[in-house]
Amino acid sequence: MSGYEVIETGRAVVKMWTKGVPVDDSARQQLTNVARLPFVHSHVAAMPDVHFGRGATVGSVIATKGAIIPAAVGVDIGCGMMAVRTSLTAEQLPDSLAKIRSIIERTVPHGGTGKKGGWKDEIPSRVSKRFEQTGLGEGLERIESKHPAIAGANSVVHLGSLGAGNHFIELCLDEAGKVWIMLHSGSRGVGNRIGSYFIQEARKSIEKKVLGQALPDRDLAYFIEGEDELFGDYLEAVMWAQDFARVNREVMMERILVAIRPLLPPFTTEKQAVNCHHNYVASERHFGADVWLTRKGAVSAREGQLGIIPGSMGAKSFIVRGRGNAESFHSCSHGAGRTMSRTAAKAKFTLQDHRDATEGVECRKDRGVLDETPKAYKNIDAVMAAQADLVDVVHTLKQVVCVKG
Ligand code: 5GP
Ligand code: MN
Ligand code: MN
Repeated sequence: MSGYEVIETGRAVVKMWTKGVPVDDSARQQLTNVARLPFVHSHVAAMPDVHFGRGATVGSVIATKGAIIPAAVGVDIGCGMMAVRTSLTAEQLPDSLAKIRSIIERTVPHGGTGKKGGWKDEIPSRVSKRFEQTGLGEGLERIESKHPAIAGANSVVHLGSLGAGNHFIELCLDEAGKVWIMLHSGSRGVGNRIGSYFIQEARKSIEKKVLGQALPDRDLAYFIEGEDELFGDYLEAVMWAQDFARVNREVMMERILVAIRPLLPPFTTEKQAVNCHHNYVASERHFGADVWLTRKGAVSAREGQLGIIPGSMGAKSFIVRGRGNAESFHSCSHGAGRTMSRTAAKAKFTLQDHRDATEGVECRKDRGVLDETPKAYKNIDAVMAAQADLVDVVHTLKQVVCVKG
């Protein structure tokens, strides 16, 4: 069932790895809009989790020559996944996992403001040692001094915090009964301020050039390399936010390990953790050109490269190895992808539906997570089948604990 279908757009085509998976017309329209932009190189690749997003779809890979579309990178710059295998086995986990969930909730700041949970003396701030040691502090100062609006009223830097809604921390079991710790988060408030600011600036600059009228969607506004003054500033800021997001995931993982150890027998973690972005831009070479490759809800899957594809609060997730499929720009999906909006999910599903779909998982079962209920996402098995030519499955994970932001 793998391989791609093609949408003709009159310019670059869209190649869609979506056989056997539902795709909304709104997503097809967005993919077409992007593929028609003059600086898109070769084609646009749509992953099987593709769905409507701001400007560009979530689940797409866009190669651009001499330009970047900030809204295609999105506002959660550097959002991604981290997973590490421990030496623990299923039998070593306590019968009641509620304590593990609760210690994670108390340890890692979560919720939109980062104010839920967390160590009192470690309120996510820009003064933390790690922030300085990594050079992130200096980098942010440079960016904010050029663009004070980014600092604005909110100078909090949520290093080591989870975020809201879709972000999560899980304990999972793999096919061999080994315990994994997996988490999903990005560049938090500060990345959001950077993303929103430059999306706005790109719109202003496009409108000035009257090119705005030629754009099918204002959120496809872009910066041109060597022409727009802000191109370089955006690049610097977006790279900073991507680094911040990666470190954010590392810090969280360290804190989770410290927090859960007292509740478990002694264990080790594998040295090589997987830590991959799924909303980001990078300089890569594809089809004979150096391009800016934007993966918005997509993961790099070069030959042999490991990645993480999560399912939902009640479904399997996968550690995958890239097959290096050139037509997909060496990419794969970043998850199952939503089948409906948050509002639609809240209206459609009941708490009982959610309890049934998350049976056996130690997780929130309140109305507040109905927009994240497993049925709000596509069927992960269908999504994996549709990209069998992009990745091989290395491990199949199923969560036993899920902490949501
Ligand atoms: P996004 O970054 O687009 O918000 O989400 C990435 C993917 O994570 C979604 O497409 C979905 O398949 C998956 N996902 C969302 N919530 C959970 C969760 O609680 N646990 C797991 N394992 N996967 C999830
Ligand atoms: Mn995110
Ligand atoms: Mn994400």
